[in-house]
Amino acid sequence: MGDMRYWSALAKGISPYVPGEQPRIPHLIKLNTNENPYPPSPKVILAVQGAADASLRLYPDPESQALRAAIAKRHGVKPEQVFVGNGSDEVLALAFLAYFDRDEPFRMPDITYSFYPVYAQLFGMAAETVPLEDDFSLPVEKLSGGTGGVIFANPNAPTSLAIGLDDVRAIASSTEGAAIVDEAYVEFGAQSAIALLSDCPNLVVVRTFSKSHALAGLRVGYAIASPDLIEALNRVKNSFNSYPLDRVAQAAATASIEDEHYCQNVLLAIVKTRESFLPRLEALGFTCLPSKANFLFAAHKTHAAARLQKSLREHGVLVRHFNAPRIDNFLRITVGTDDEMERLVFSLQDILSLA
Ligand code: PMP
Repeated sequence: MGDMRYWSALAKGISPYVPGEQPRIPHLIKLNTNENPYPPSPKVILAVQGAADASLRLYPDPESQALRAAIAKRHGVKPEQVFVGNGSDEVLALAFLAYFDRDEPFRMPDITYSFYPVYAQLFGMAAETVPLEDDFSLPVEKLSGGTGGVIFANPNAPTSLAIGLDDVRAIASSTEGAAIVDEAYVEFGAQSAIALLSDCPNLVVVRTFSKSHALAGLRVGYAIASPDLIEALNRVKNSFNSYPLDRVAQAAATASIEDEHYCQNVLLAIVKTRESFLPRLEALGFTCLPSKANFLFAAHKTHAAARLQKSLREHGVLVRHFNAPRIDNFLRITVGTDDEMERLVFSLQDILSLA
């Protein structure tokens, strides 16, 4: 770390989230940050071009009304039930501030999206971490019944496993305080808790355009909840940044959610590749969890994950490895195109026979 003389105690004390690398190496097969391998809908590109005009001198709509209306229509809810932010990371951060308190720990799984503990630390909140079961499934009973709220991802990351709506309902309805369900990967094979909103008044569903809509570069995420819960998010947002989504992002995300047909085709292609690639990984000696996401979580029976990740990098293939207890022998592999997965298999065959 550099000269910390003028840093706040907060800046000195935090351990920031470390995103997957984004190197500028040509011809790299990039399977390390769960991006969509396909381009966004052509209508999104047209919307971006359409928004790039003289109106950029003006601030954007602080309430993103057109986008919120399009999201509401797509999910069959009211616009007052929709909140949008600069990526679901921002929505999640604001949700921590809107729903969790410092003097009452919230619950979360021990193995989950690694940004949650970072937000907790940044905001001075305490978490009660609940260990995943030995098979990495979510411990539904132990996550239930808390008093300070709960957050979990469904499907979970980086494990790729999903729980059903009965389990989501059991956790939410037994929790005092808010239940935040992070559905970043839900469209690749899990059921959305949006269907539970009328039964569970404390439920907050967080979604993103980054994965299913191939718009990680645009930075748009959203939350769906009751109007009362959304009001809390708006109060926090308007105390921090009143214009989180720029004009281009609002126009592009609106075009994207309106082109449902394109998105569904892309999702089908990714799920098909995932299902055909999983047995090929198993044939190479990996154990794979049954993924409901756009990535696979796989451990090799004899080869250490850290070494495999390094060797793959030398072959121009990037995958993610987490140096954390219980999962340090796993690789998290984003599902790319069939061609990219072919190149990954080819590289693995090479590495495994040489080692
Ligand atoms: N939730 C989970 C579980 C994720 O894996 C990610 C992506 N890193 C996010 C949220 C954040 O996605 P974004 O900010 O791009 O919407």
